[in-house]
Amino acid sequence: MKRRVILLGPPGSGKGTVAACLEKQFGWPHVSSGYLFRQEVGKNSPLGQLAKTFIENGKLVPDEVVLQLMEHWWDGTDSAAGFILDGFPRNVPQAMKLDSWLTARGVALDVVICLKAPENEIIRRVAGRRSCPRCGRVFQIPDMPPHTEGICDDCGGELTQRADDRESVLRERFEIYRRETEPLVNYYRHQGKLVLVDAMQPVDQRCAAAADALK
Ligand code: AMP
Repeated sequence: MKRRVILLGPPGSGKGTVAACLEKQFGWPHVSSGYLFRQEVGKNSPLGQLAKTFIENGKLVPDEVVLQLMEHWWDGTDSAAGFILDGFPRNVPQAMKLDSWLTARGVALDVVICLKAPENEIIRRVAGRRSCPRCGRVFQIPDMPPHTEGICDDCGGELTQRADDRESVLRERFEIYRRETEPLVNYYRHQGKLVLVDAMQPVDQRCAAAADALK
């Protein structure tokens, strides 16, 4: 069973965590546009330079830059092998572009999972988010801490807090989510692809609910 899956949800709703569970369980690659961007910024590549200020201020990177990054991913992807996309698409024009790529290859998305959670819970969660700049793994304090404080369980990297997880930036990201990304809920509902998952559940149940949606 191979599935092409999109994860939607506001910043901090746990898309990355759910994607990592699904990747582990089913083996389809997890692709996070935010992670790909942070790598480009880290390398100080031309794409990274174009994206940096937008990311640091919690704004969406302009579509033409996002599409350059994601087209590169798409060109190198075996779409028959399935994928779990997290962070892309982020608005209707991006979703339409992805649809055109899929159509050109004669394949389709299977499921769009949307994680739902109230804003105050998300703010609490994001304040505890720590990620590993080396391998991208994300931890959550206090719900899902690393074994050793500040150190990544997988690669031993030093955990950091993302600059765009500061509260003022986070509020801006929420606003942008409501305006730009939430319309995708209806977009995919109309395609008959949407499954809602309660992001307030404990991690295990959240992952199990997402996995059920794929069966
Ligand atoms: P994320 O890790 O998905 O929260 O993404 C972090 C940041 O990367 C976002 O706040 C945006 O600045 C940028 N970004 C990631 N994916 C996209 C996208 N599909 N469209 C526009 N900007 C994006």
